[in-house]
Amino acid sequence: MGHPFPPDWTAIHSQTYVYEPGCWEACKGFCCSGRHEDFSFQLLPSRGAAIFYMQEEYEHLAGQGRAPKLDGVATRQVSIEFGGPRPLSFVYHFCGLEGACQGVLDKPFHCLVYPFMPVFDNYGALLDVAPGSIFDLTAILHDEQASCPLWKTRKEHYLRLWRSRTPLLAPLRRPLVLFYLAAYKLFVDSYNERFLDWEEGRELRGAEFWSAWELQYLGRRFFDSDLLKQGFLTKLHELEKIHGSFF
Ligand code: SF4
Ligand code: SF4
Repeated sequence: MGHPFPPDWTAIHSQTYVYEPGCWEACKGFCCSGRHEDFSFQLLPSRGAAIFYMQEEYEHLAGQGRAPKLDGVATRQVSIEFGGPRPLSFVYHFCGLEGACQGVLDKPFHCLVYPFMPVFDNYGALLDVAPGSIFDLTAILHDEQASCPLWKTRKEHYLRLWRSRTPLLAPLRRPLVLFYLAAYKLFVDSYNERFLDWEEGRELRGAEFWSAWELQYLGRRFFDSDLLKQGFLTKLHELEKIHGSFF
């Protein structure tokens, strides 16, 4: 399906958003390995990383053989019917490469920008950054040892850099990308609210906390899907009012 303002995926993937040489030495490459001293999950994978592709981003990379093939298990499409002209779709991939993806697959935007997910207003002005994974998001909310140390040490640096070097973020300022990123931010906000309502988790710390969290997370306690769908639809209408029909 064609889009009136198609994102330039090649430009999006050719940018260096986060440059921190050797940062994995401090955390043993948590973002790709999933290794964390407090994690001993029963059902969630204990090694590797969950990554997400925007649907059109996946199609672009997969069309060039630079993304994993859909298999319905490790790599699967997720579509959310939210009342728009078509579902909001993305591709979930469980990456077990533990940092060794070079020459195997191209990093999606999610990996290129980790641990900071840009938050834009409807016109494409950078407002803030959100945590790039559910683990970081949870650790920050619960004041646990942050999974990625850059969140604490480099957030302000990247906010300043991205605000000052506008061409770096320019390829993201397409309505379709703004919509995906806004949907992610809506998810983060909704998660924040539900997570902070979880009274039983407040007193738990470390490994005990993460074990209890896993059950709540898998039980979908932290998601209000009706509210999220409503939020997606409202955001789509807001963006279309400004940019015209694009979805
Ligand atoms: S978790 Fe953060 S600090 Fe560690 S390797 Fe990944 S980006 Fe670098
Ligand atoms: S694609 Fe590369 S950067 Fe992304 S999670 Fe896998 S190994 Fe890490």
